Amino acid sequence: MRKDCVFCKIVNREIATKIIFEDDLVMAFNDNNSVASVHILIIPKEHIESTNDLTESEKNEKLMGRLILVARKLAIEKGISEAGYKLLVRTGKEGGQEVPHIHLHLMGGDWKFKPNI
Ligand code: AMP
Repeated sequence: MRKDCVFCKIVNREIATKIIFEDDLVMAFNDNNSVASVHILIIPKEHIESTNDLTESEKNEKLMGRLILVARKLAIEKGISEAGYKLLVRTGKEGGQEVPHIHLHLMGGDWKFKPNI
């Protein structure tokens, strides 16, 4: 938990957000500036700034695997798995990361605009 981290505040219920999914390790909620009809952020509950801060540990393998599997599950639930969707993790300044708490974007359905990459 980082006091100044917006996603930690969501995990801690200090910022009210509709939680789409939650388990022991991760949480998912809608991106508040969505680029598509389905635009969900899946985050670890633990504060980890970016992929640079992951370790080659079973704990982190499990965590990052969980993020992907939750994205898969939500894509099925939202009805976008057949058509396909985009998963995105940004890292650091050059990667365009705005919120320094690892998050996986799940994007699909009707696109407002479709980033090329
Ligand atoms: P990134 O550029 O990968 O760091 O993406 C950060 C994303 O977090 C952006 O798409 C923002 O729209 C989104 N975001 C920032 N603050 C919030 C919030 N309080 N609730 C939901 N989404 C947020």
